[in-house]
Amino acid sequence: MNIQELHNINLLPYEVENYSTALKSYVLFSQIDDKVVIAISKDYMSVSFDYLSKFEYKYEVIFLDEISYERLYNKFLEIKTDKEMSDIQQEQEDATVEDEDFSVSEFLKVGSDILTSEESAPIIKFVNSLFYQAIKKKASDIHIEMHEFKAEVRYRVDGVLVKHIELDKNIMSLVISRIKVISNLDISEKRIPQDGRTAIKIAGKTLDIRVSILPTFYGERVVMRILMQSEDILSVKELGFPSYITDELEKVLRNSYGMVLVTGPTGSGKSTTLHSLLHQVVSEEKNIITVEDPVEYKSNEFSQIQVNAKVGLTFASGLRSILRQDPDIIMLGEIRDKETASIAVQSALTGHLLFSTLHTNRAPAAITRLIDMGVEKFLISSSLLAVLAQRLVRKLCSSCKCEDDSNASHQLFKLSPNTKLFKPKGCKECNFTGYIGRIAIGELFIIDDEIKEYLKTDVDDNTLMKLAHESGMISLDVQLKQMLENGDTSVSEAVRIGLK
Ligand SMILES: [Zn+2]
Repeated sequence: MNIQELHNINLLPYEVENYSTALKSYVLFSQIDDKVVIAISKDYMSVSFDYLSKFEYKYEVIFLDEISYERLYNKFLEIKTDKEMSDIQQEQEDATVEDEDFSVSEFLKVGSDILTSEESAPIIKFVNSLFYQAIKKKASDIHIEMHEFKAEVRYRVDGVLVKHIELDKNIMSLVISRIKVISNLDISEKRIPQDGRTAIKIAGKTLDIRVSILPTFYGERVVMRILMQSEDILSVKELGFPSYITDELEKVLRNSYGMVLVTGPTGSGKSTTLHSLLHQVVSEEKNIITVEDPVEYKSNEFSQIQVNAKVGLTFASGLRSILRQDPDIIMLGEIRDKETASIAVQSALTGHLLFSTLHTNRAPAAITRLIDMGVEKFLISSSLLAVLAQRLVRKLCSSCKCEDDSNASHQLFKLSPNTKLFKPKGCKECNFTGYIGRIAIGELFIIDDEIKEYLKTDVDDNTLMKLAHESGMISLDVQLKQMLENGDTSVSEAVRIGLK
């Protein structure tokens, strides 16, 4: 039978029990006009007959060549995805009323298509629903993973991965192809990592998405980062830090030159803070240039440079070029090597206000890190204004949090034995995670005269920490302890944050 004739075939996958077992034996139950037929591939006849011999089907058997069978098989996958898709939409309708205005047709289809639009519609809808759900759940990343027998989608919500859906690996391959198409990646390339970018329009809002694809043993792994939108940029006050930190920060930002560093592990909200700092100082009289990796969101108020190692555009070379563009304020995504550190310090000394991040856990450790990168202490002393170390702590859902009566925790965080602690439970309000939203905690280390004096001697982390405390720095652990005492977060979250 040829492809043309196949157009008249209707599939019956859901009317036949064990259809997935049948599928493994290259058997597809189909319908031509009103007649049910069994379609099998000429290439796998023996496997198919072996399967069919176990049943007493009275249907006519038709034989398909490789291409026709493949085509019918893909059609079957699409119907299956379409059903799963409508199940998801059904769930959405059941779950909330406010989604009434949502329709998949609102999504903008980006890029040309590998499959004809008619045939791939279910996959497009499914990929769009992945983005829609991610936005609804306030996810920052979408992860697609291939395992031995199945594939799954997880969302990163409030810094933690949450399972979204499990799918057949064949369908997920089609989903990944679709993602490659909209990100302008090579769909036939499955052996090397690929990075791309795409924009998706959801209900009138355009989302920028960074796509990373990595081949793994069981198939390709996809991570999609939903980048910040300019309207999502919070003011320094809105970041959620205690007012003694924001007030001090605002004072620091009045300097016309010098360096302000934000530190913390990955996912601690450093880049959000950097952008808030930039927004605090933005003005028409200032020339602001950034070097980022990636450019987190597109701004109309300043120039942004995307790091591109392939063409030799690194943080260091980008920064060097910026300096020839007469900037007032520079934002540098990260200082991670000697060369970048040295140019950053030099530019802060020569009349520029520079914001950047460093990978240290505590604020005072930024000094020793810079020294380790080969920056002279006297240069640090005359360029560094302040260091903010920060973390994002998940807040317990107030609708379902319950008392935590385990006693070991009190000792761990040096809490009074009478302190009432709470733990997460999970309810509809919080998507069954037990947490809603995150709060920023931070320690702001100001480089005052005393610290500058100390920088003339041999420097070590412990003394720096001690001096910082003496000059009034309220440390991260104090704030975390307070959150526990107020019942704002759980012991397990405090442990995850890693301070004691
Ligand atoms: Zn809850």
